[in-house]
Amino acid sequence: MEKSEEIIKVLKSKLSKKSWEMWFGTFSVKNVSETLITFSVGNIFIKDWLNQKYHKQFKETIKEVFGRDVPYVIEDELASEEATKEKKKTERLIRKRPVVYSEFNKEYTFENFVVGPFNEEAYDGTLEVAKDPGKMNPFFVYGGVGLGKTHLLHAMGNYLIQNSPDVRVMYVTAEKFMNDLVMAIRNNSTQEFRKNFREKIDVLIIDDIQFLMGKNGIQSELFHTLNHLLDHSKQIVLCSDRTPTQLSEFQPRLVSRFQMGLVVKVYDPDIETAMQIARTFAQRNGLLLSNEMAREIALSSDNVRTIKGIVTKLAFKSMKSGVNADTVANAVRDVVGKGVSLKGPASEKEAFFQVLSGVFDVLPAELDAKIRTANLSRARQIGMYFARKYLHKTFSEIGTWFARDHSSVVYSCKKVEESLRKGNSKVREKVFLLQKLLRKQSGESAG
Ligand code: ADP
Ligand code: MG
Repeated sequence: MEKSEEIIKVLKSKLSKKSWEMWFGTFSVKNVSETLITFSVGNIFIKDWLNQKYHKQFKETIKEVFGRDVPYVIEDELASEEATKEKKKTERLIRKRPVVYSEFNKEYTFENFVVGPFNEEAYDGTLEVAKDPGKMNPFFVYGGVGLGKTHLLHAMGNYLIQNSPDVRVMYVTAEKFMNDLVMAIRNNSTQEFRKNFREKIDVLIIDDIQFLMGKNGIQSELFHTLNHLLDHSKQIVLCSDRTPTQLSEFQPRLVSRFQMGLVVKVYDPDIETAMQIARTFAQRNGLLLSNEMAREIALSSDNVRTIKGIVTKLAFKSMKSGVNADTVANAVRDVVGKGVSLKGPASEKEAFFQVLSGVFDVLPAELDAKIRTANLSRARQIGMYFARKYLHKTFSEIGTWFARDHSSVVYSCKKVEESLRKGNSKVREKVFLLQKLLRKQSGESAG
């Protein structure tokens, strides 16, 4: 008689008919070795019950059959089924480890991406495409620099490699696409190039497509590549710093291809979200920011890259001296320099009044006049504060600009500072808007 049959026979003889029928219907001896005996039952409840109630009988049975004590375990079928499934899955993952077409930055994952109202649409779209490539085709993401577009594209790549190892995903910048093509033409290997970009992939991600503006020959190749992939239901993902229609000197047939699928925008973060991002980055670096610090960082940044840069710098600086208003100010200065400045053809006062009047919807000439309305007073106060804090003007310079005396400038600056400290979001929004507009203006005149 086999050992497993013998075990069953002996065990049965030790139990009442009733308990045998009640509890041992799914019982079997799964494995017998010198060192361990494995029993199997239908589910975890039976397993627990048998372990509790029949330990003595198991032990005695084993001793009788083997002439000595051998430890035993009871497994439940469901759990062991799951385990084999899991095992098979990992085996499959290992076997099908994808041919690596592109290196993806391991840090750029969906988990590490901070989602807010400004980038929610792009985040959702990218994740959706990663889960089900081919569904929204082509997928086009656009938005300003440093807002996380490349991060999202890499997140998609990382996600696909993790979750769909048999999907072949390739990421290139438009510049690399061009260089590869030029190389291929030079080496008489355009066949090879086309095979790489058409036959060998399931998902093609092209970053910074605006790089191809005015490059007509490359655009033609891109057009045929995209057509081929679309015809074969392969996923195309494109990224740009502007909308498809704003891509000047782009072939209209390409632009209309871009618009065919889903187009999503990454907006500029609002001040509230920018502060939240600063806090999140800080937390990841083990730092806790006060509201004031978060606001300082957010006000000085017009994109996520800058916020990240400032916080990284801050984390480094605060290793020695801890976080305080000074280390924050230093980190900001290190990353963004002196910040906004007034350059261009107009005088500084004129340039500033122009922007300030736009933000408050007043006339520039009203700002240094005697007129008093609530809105004008607020515009002056915030303008004075801004000129002091971010344009680094002296109190007397500011007094001359606004035709006010020294003490009322000092008073205004104090008032605004106080409002900000109390978390007045209207004032905060205005300062943020001023920052943004002036930054834009100085960027334009510099470029
Ligand atoms: P873009 O491609 O839009 O110019 P990047 O993707 O290169 O911007 O982002 C710049 C930096 O900011 C990267 O280090 C990126 O990880 C980080 N970043 C941008 N947006 C986010 C976000 N929402 N959450 C976390 N990090 C972000
Ligand atoms: Mg990018």
